Parts: sequence; C-alpha cells; structure tokens
Amino acid sequence: MKKYVALFGSCMFLVAFFSMYLMLDQLNLHGSLRGRVAMEMGQTELDFIKDKMENLENDIHHNQQIIDEIRNSVKQIIGGENMSKYIPVQRNIPALVEEVPESPVQAKIEAGDCSFVERQGEHRDDVQMLDVLDLLPFDNPDGGVWKQGFDIHYTDRDWDEQPLKVFVVPHSHNDPGWIKTVDRYYLDQTQHILNNMVDKLKVDSRRKFIWAEISFFSMWWDNIDAEKKEAVKKLVENGQLEIVTGGWVMTDEAITHYYAMIDQLIEGHEWIKRNLGIKPRSGWAIDPFGHSPTMAYLLKRMGLQNMVVQRVHYSVKKQLAKEKQLEFMWRQNWDHGASSDMLCHMMPFYSYDVPHTCGPDPKVCCQFDFKRLPGGRVNCPWKVPPVPINDNNVAERAKLLLDQYRKKSKLYRSNIVLIPLGDDFRYDKAIEWDQQYGNYQKLFDYMNGQPNWHVEAQFGTLSDYFDAMWDRAGLQPGSSGLGYPVLSGDFFSYADREDHYWSGYYTSRPFYKNLDRVLEAHARAAEIIFSLALAHSRHIDVPSFPAKNAYQMLIGARKSLGLFQHHDAITGTAKDFVVVDYGTRLLRSIMDMKRVMIDSAHFLMSEDKQQYDPETTTTFFDMDEKRINHDALPEKPILQLNQQTKEVVFYNSVAQARHEVVRLRVSSSTVEVQDASGKVIPSQTNLVWTAAQDSSTTEYELVFIVNVPPLGLSKYLIRDAGSEVNNPYNAPSQITLYNTGSPDSSVRGVFHISRPISDNRDFTIENSRLRAKFSGTTGLLQSVTTVKDGKETAVSVEFLMYGTRETKKDKSGAYLFLPDGEARTLDSSGKAVIRVIRGKILSEVHVLMKHVEHVITLHRSPGIDGWSLEISNIVDIRDQRNRELCMRLKTDLKNNNEFFSDLNGFQMQRRKTLSKLPLQANYYPMSTMAYLQDQDTRMTLHSAQSLGVGSLQEGWLEVMLDRRLNQDDNRGLQQGLLDNKRTPNQFRLLLERRHQRTSSPNGGGRQTGVDYPSLTSHSVSQLLNHPVYAFIRNKLPGEGPSGDVKLSSSVQPLVKALPCDIHFVNLRTVQAMEAPAPTQESVLLLHRKGFDCSFPANGLSCSTTGGKVPLEDLFRDLDLTDIKATTLSLMYDGQVLNSKSTLQLDPMEINAYRIRLD
Ligand SMILES: [Zn+2]
Repeated sequence: MKKYVALFGSCMFLVAFFSMYLMLDQLNLHGSLRGRVAMEMGQTELDFIKDKMENLENDIHHNQQIIDEIRNSVKQIIGGENMSKYIPVQRNIPALVEEVPESPVQAKIEAGDCSFVERQGEHRDDVQMLDVLDLLPFDNPDGGVWKQGFDIHYTDRDWDEQPLKVFVVPHSHNDPGWIKTVDRYYLDQTQHILNNMVDKLKVDSRRKFIWAEISFFSMWWDNIDAEKKEAVKKLVENGQLEIVTGGWVMTDEAITHYYAMIDQLIEGHEWIKRNLGIKPRSGWAIDPFGHSPTMAYLLKRMGLQNMVVQRVHYSVKKQLAKEKQLEFMWRQNWDHGASSDMLCHMMPFYSYDVPHTCGPDPKVCCQFDFKRLPGGRVNCPWKVPPVPINDNNVAERAKLLLDQYRKKSKLYRSNIVLIPLGDDFRYDKAIEWDQQYGNYQKLFDYMNGQPNWHVEAQFGTLSDYFDAMWDRAGLQPGSSGLGYPVLSGDFFSYADREDHYWSGYYTSRPFYKNLDRVLEAHARAAEIIFSLALAHSRHIDVPSFPAKNAYQMLIGARKSLGLFQHHDAITGTAKDFVVVDYGTRLLRSIMDMKRVMIDSAHFLMSEDKQQYDPETTTTFFDMDEKRINHDALPEKPILQLNQQTKEVVFYNSVAQARHEVVRLRVSSSTVEVQDASGKVIPSQTNLVWTAAQDSSTTEYELVFIVNVPPLGLSKYLIRDAGSEVNNPYNAPSQITLYNTGSPDSSVRGVFHISRPISDNRDFTIENSRLRAKFSGTTGLLQSVTTVKDGKETAVSVEFLMYGTRETKKDKSGAYLFLPDGEARTLDSSGKAVIRVIRGKILSEVHVLMKHVEHVITLHRSPGIDGWSLEISNIVDIRDQRNRELCMRLKTDLKNNNEFFSDLNGFQMQRRKTLSKLPLQANYYPMSTMAYLQDQDTRMTLHSAQSLGVGSLQEGWLEVMLDRRLNQDDNRGLQQGLLDNKRTPNQFRLLLERRHQRTSSPNGGGRQTGVDYPSLTSHSVSQLLNHPVYAFIRNKLPGEGPSGDVKLSSSVQPLVKALPCDIHFVNLRTVQAMEAPAPTQESVLLLHRKGFDCSFPANGLSCSTTGGKVPLEDLFRDLDLTDIKATTLSLMYDGQVLNSKSTLQLDPMEINAYRIRLD
C-alpha cells in the first residue's frame, strides 16, 4: 500500500510539475502576469513577503529558481500520504500554493477564569427540565373536562383556615401586527380599547386592567390630550391600571437575540418612565410560542419581581400541575447560587382565553365570558352560552364559577388564584366593559357575602396577585425564601395538542429572520459609533455634528427592531401584507443606520473636526452594501478605480481588535491595496460570476486582510494597478470548473480557468490550520482535517427536502412542522456545476444546485476568520409545493444523542434527541450556534440568523433553511407560506479539538442543562453577527484630487481592547425626558461570557482578566464622569463609581452602567 501511494505520489508530482511548467511558459507570454506565478504568500508578515518578492523580481528571468520553489511547494502539498490521492489532475496546481504558517496566536487566560465552568456541578435545582422530558411518557390520555389534564378534587373545608383569594385580571392581548398591520390594528381596535379603558375604569375604583405592549400604548399616548393623559396617570397611581412587562412588544423568546430583547425592553421602560413615571414589576408573556429562561434572566436583572408564562407543552403543564410546581423559582442553568431566581407562574390550561383560564372546564368557563352573551359576534363552542347575572341566578352562577376557581387553585401552593379575563383585542367596545365588569362584580359581591364559602374574590392587576402571595408568606416581593421549587431549563419545543409541535416557525420566513439580524447588527454598530462621535463632538466643542437628526433615526431603528421582535413578526407568522409592512420598516431603518454610521465615521475620521461640514455627509461615504427593496438580496456597489488611490474606511464595532478578510467590488482585476501608512499589502482579485460559467468583465471582487482596532476605524487605499508589472502583492485567483462538459482550460483576462479531465476526484482547499475535502462529483464538503494534529473528521454536507403529511387536515404551516417522514435527498438530476476558486487570501468552493447556491470559503487569515469554514447559501424553493429544505451535516462524532443549541445568543442549552418523540419535536430554535461533541472533538455550526436545528441521528446536525407550505395550520393565520424569496443565509463551521479531556462531555453523572462555547467559538460568533463595515470615500464636487477633507489613518476610541471574554453589548445614548433628543448620558452594556477552557483559544490575541475592566482602560480622549451601575433597563440605579474605578463582572452576567462622556 505504501509503495503504491509513493508511486502514485511520484506520478502526481511529475504530472503536476509538468503542468506547472507548461503554465509558467504560458504565463510568461503575458507580460502583465509576470511575478504572479510565485505568489505563494499566504498573508503573513510583510517583511517576509517583501524579501521574497525582491528575490523573485531580481531573478525573474531565471525560471529554474521559481520552478524549484514550486517543486518545494508541491513536495509539501503531496508530502502527506493522505493528501496525495485527493490532488486532482489539473493544470492550475500553483494555486495550491504553500502557505507560510501564521505565528500561532492564543488568548492569555488568567488563572481562575476557567473555574466558573468547572464549577457547574454546584448548580442546584428541584426541577430540571431535561429530566422532565426524559421521564414523561408523552402519552396524551383523555383527562376528561380538562382534556390534557386530570380530575381535580377538593373538599368544601379546604379553605376553612385560610380563605381562597381570587384575583380576576382583565387583559386585552394586542398583537402589533398579525392578521392586520400594527397601524390597522391601532385604528380599528387598540385605540378604542384604550379610550374605553379610561372611561370605564373611572366608573368604579374596584375595576382593574393590565396592559403590556408599549408600542401601541405610545401610539395612543401621542394621540390623546393632556386631560386624558392625567386621567391615565391617576389610574396608574391608584393601582387600577398596571403596565406589565412594559416591553415595546411581547417578544418571541425562541429566535430573538438578547441584544434586541434588551433593547426593546429599554425602549419600553424608558418610555414608561418618561411618560408615566413608574416601573413595571411583573412580566406577562401569554402568547409567545414557548419560553426561554433568558427572558427570566433579563426581567430579573431589570428589577422585575414576578412573571407569567403560558405556552408550554401540554404534557409538561400536566406534570408540573400534578406536583404543584406550576409556580416556581426559575433559576438559570449556569447559576451556581440563587441570584437569578425569578418567581414564575405558569398558566395550567390550553390557552389564555376565558374558557381556559377560570378553571379546568372550558364548557363552564366559557359561560363566564360575557362578551359571548347571545346576540354577540362570538359564542361558546361548547354550546352552553353565558347568561347575564341577576338576583335570581347569582347564587347558582357564583357557585358554579367558584367550583372552577377552587379546582384551579388546587394546582398551586398558595390559597390565592390568578384568573386572567381577556383574549385577543378584547374590550374594544364599551358594552363589553359593562358586560364583563358588571356581571363579575355581581358574582364577587355574592361570593364575598357567603361567609361559609371562605372566598375573597375581586378584580386585580397582575402585581395585586403576586403581592398577595408574597404578603401571605411575609416576604418582600422579589426576595428569596418563598419555598417554591427551583426549576431550571427551558420550555421548547412547544406543542399545544397531539403531536402538533410549533417548531416550524423557528424557520418560517427565513428571509426576514436574516434581515432582522442585519438590522440588529446595523443598529448596534450605529448606536456605538454615534455615541462615540457625539461625545467627541462635545469634547472638542463642534456643534455641527448632526446629533439630533441622527438620534431620531436611531430612535426609529430601536422601534423598528423592537416591533419585529413581536411574536408574530420575527416568527414569520403574520399575513403576507403584514410581512411586507415589517420588511419595509426594517429596510428603512437599515438605511437610516447606514446614514448614522456614515455621519459618525465621517466626523470621527476627519483630521480637522472643526471643519466638519454636515452638509457634505450625504455624499461623503458610501457603504458597501445596498438593498433596492425590502425583499431583495443585498448588492455591492462597484468601486470605480483609476490610477489615483481611493480611500476606504473599515469600522469594527466589537471591543477586540479585528484582523480579518474583507471583500469589495471593484472595476479592475489588477489592484493595489495600501494600508494607511502607504505600505502595499497583499490582495486577491476574483471573478464576479454572472452565470454558471460566465463572469463580469466590468466588475471584480477584491479581497484583502484588514486590521481594525477595538470599536475603531482604519483607512485603506485602493487603486487600479493597470498592467503594472511590479505589483506582486495582488494576485488573481485560479479557477477550476467541474461538471461543465468541456475539459479544457482558458484564460479570462488575468484569470486562469481550468476544467479537469476527470470530474470525479475529490479535491481540497486548505490553509495552515484546516484542510477541507470535497467530493469531485457533488462539490459538497466531505471532511475537515485540523492540520496541526492531522486528525480528519468526517463532515459531509447534504441538502434534503421534507414533505408534509398527506392527510386533509393537520399539515405543516407557518407555526407547525408536520413532516411526512424522513427528509429526502435533494433531486440532483443533472450534475451541479462546481467552481473551485483558489487564492492566496481565500479559497472557495461554489456548488450551483437547483435550489441552493452553496459556497464554502476558507480564509488564509491570521485572525479568527482563518479558524473556521464559512458556509453561505442562497436558497430558492419558489417552484416547490409543500416542501421544506434543510442542510444536514453528517459527522463521525459520537455525540450520544445529545447536542447543544443556544438560547437567544445568551446561553447554551443541552438538547437530547428523544426517540419517543416525533421528528418535529426534536427540532429546536438556534439563534447563533449549535454544536455536537464527543470526548475529543466539538463541531459548532455558528449562524448569522435564527433557524430551526435538530440532531436526528448520532453524528448529525441539521438546520432548516426555508419552508414553502400551501396551507394554513389552523392557528388563526388562515394562510400558508407562499411568499418565499431568494433567501441568503450564512454560517461558520468550527471544528475544535479538546486539549483537556473532560471525563464525560455529554452528560454522565448528574445532568446539567448548560454547556459553554470556547473563547474561539464566541469570537467566531462575533465575526458573523457583528461584521466589519466598509465606507467608500466619494470625491465631492469641486474637491481636489485628494479631497479637501483629510482623513486620519485610524481611530482608536478605546485605550485598551476589552478582555476577550467581555462583549461590548452596546453604548446607547439616553433619550431626553422632554424631546426625542440625545442627552449627555449613555448606558454602557457589557456581557462577560462563560467559556470552556478545554479547547485552545485559537486565533485570539486578547487576554482575560478575571472579569476586571478598569474604567481608565476604556475611552481615549474623553472625560468619563457620572458613572453609576444600573439595572439592565435603567430602572434602578446602584453603586456610584468614579473614573478610577474598576468594573468587576461575573461570568455570564450582563451589566449596565450609566456614564457621561464628554
Ligand atoms: Zn399574540
């Protein structure tokens, strides 16, 4: 075998050598290409390159020397036995050039910073959701009147010692967009609900009401007069009206990212503070399709004391009800103590409507929804209508209702019961207020008048209910010691009946899930650079910076992003035209955020800021991406180059330095790139493909590696190098086309295109860390080898389609995933064209399948981007019927039926694939990453957008990319999903080898729900979610050749990079009380991530500091004053700090500080 390999290797060498010699000859015919052939430089230390280039140029006529070098390269390439068989017979082997290994960079980790993760055994809980899922049979027996539950028993004497306290909490669930747009709902219903609320609550001070969605409330507030505003404030003050949660919307909790969750809560809470002067105390999330502990954490750290959740799997509800665990202290899986404990009340029954909230029997409860009185538009499907309460029937009616209250209370530990009274868009007509409040008051009066019933029934707000509970326990609300069970884990995936799992919406309308994250990244980057520019404009007293205008755009973006976190928006479960309304808002705000970034970057980069002229900013920079419509793919403008240099500025919004590959579109294929000091740096040009084999002759892709400081800006200079011969730093990529029919080679401008004689051989792309092997037949990834240890891990990519059930009813729709069985491999009739692009900065494999354009890229970068493979897809299933397309990675990892997916980009959650559950139940939400692991290896799929993921068999990880469904799935939307677009999605695949073996990475011993990404993995996620933005300098009318405004070479706003485990979440300028204008105050949000030290922190030049951030290390050239710790939405201020203080952050925690920067 060895002999054969050696022989094969030698033959390969000869063939390759001969091919290269031929090519070299050919290249020499084209003068402009001289020098390129020896471009073996991966990017590297410039000195090395320079030396090498000088040598090459001196000896350029001595082909022998070059050939020697190539021979060495090829020897290296085919040196390994494993490799030799994958080298295709083709003529462009010089593209597989040697790479000078980058000096290995690893983060410096302070002793002790690994211990947090190692202490995870200290976590304590009474109910671990993973165990609950393990133990439950999921058998769904008929429970009688409470179909999904059981018979509830009590005796009349149960309340003799302590009366039953009943709080009936009237509410109206208002979706800011679903069947109608947010504006239409406001006009048709919401404004009337709120107007009636003022009138009808005033009638009787015993009447109560709660409201959640500040988006709607603020719209209404802007339309009412001062007198009504005063009336509202009075109702709030005297406790009749309570604002619950107080977010901009009631967010989805599965696929939202914590940045946006926090941002919309700040927006809501700040609005409430400015206009009502109060602080929400209780959370209310009755409609999101499953619940995340991240929400509990955020509410806790914002200072809320209690929360309510509703949509939880019916079997889980039943189990918790049996054990009287429907009220619990929700503790984070990663919490070693009890500081994250949040009191949570879970509603027990099927829905939040009246039939499912008064007690276990919907047939009875429906009779106490007085909007359903005969003659109205709604009735009771259980065929027994409500009757108005009068003196004759009140005794019988009150007894019937009390029976339900008593049964419900038996599911909880206190003798206090919460009875929500409302539904979607309720109380829009005055008569409904009279019907509900009038009839219920009669019932309460009667009940309370029966001393032997031992009941105190009343209207209440949500906090009235919780306060009564804390009060009976003799405790301050929000304190510890209530004695309720501690629960850890999450409530996904949700099923409301049978096997109807709501796991489809994790992916529905993926185009907009992607667009949401694009806005999120833009908004965050704009908030930060705006706050910095504004502070610097104050510092040097330049009033011309257009702060007010930019700030109004920021407010708009906060609202658009906040609105889209609504549980029918980001979820993809609204009507088509409502989706268009959301999309238009998202795009508008993306464009506004570009504007804010351009203004701020222009200001910060101007050498003479006193001369800053805001009038010129509209044309000063262009950003490197445009979208012509909300549903269009982004387009890159072409940088028109000539002999004069063009300035391009790059902005890095994260607080660690970035050293990574960027891409621009340019008008020339031979380009020179200089850094700000004028030093020429290596670059690569690629063809821009217009069809499978056709490329543009006016547009090229330019790639090079930039260095951008933490939160900073860096300038680069680009010009057309024309046919200059002494431009050895720029090299075109080499292209190989497979499955195109004609096995010949051609030259296209400076690009050499080869077509292999044999199509079927596997091929590789590689850098000094990774070697990725691809099938020569399909072009799809087969394995990844980590170069350092030579270990190869099978990772094969497949694309598959799911169908939906054949039955008439119960097919997949916007919410539900109801597949007709296993996925089927994508129909590959006709071989996909494969393009392999090899270059010194990056290499790519393009596979053009019928429904997916699939690209895998490997950067030859010294930064973090060189440690993982980028996967980009453009998915198009518009010609399909009832199909869902997924990408599956099949590995040889022994993951023991477990995988990990993130919750809201905030924490990892262990997932077990359970064979007792249907396929759709084993799908989970992924916001930023999911991984499989065994003793040696972890494979993480990082995502730039939220989608559904599953690991259906050992070693598999799959992600759903798009869904096209022809029908409604009976959850109220009344339409299918047929507005699919060409949809982009982006991932990074990271393969990590454990350098410390942990005894059992997958469970073993007592289960904990948590796990942690490595520092490298956290950085890869940042790379995907916080891209480096490019600003292209325009020449202004009348400007001289080099422009009148001189730009700095770089801007470094931070004295030092933040420690590598600390993420700069936001620097958000606080809004003034009286006007939509910025104040001098900002909130600084920092998140210290938990990380797993058993993987090397590759590619990072940062260090960790035990969570310490000296304030002196933060902002350069600015005065930092008025520093105060505060809660996450700025409701409660804490410790006062000074500019010499050091912040101390605990692992996993997000901290907020008010600061003033001048
Ligand atoms: Zn809703």
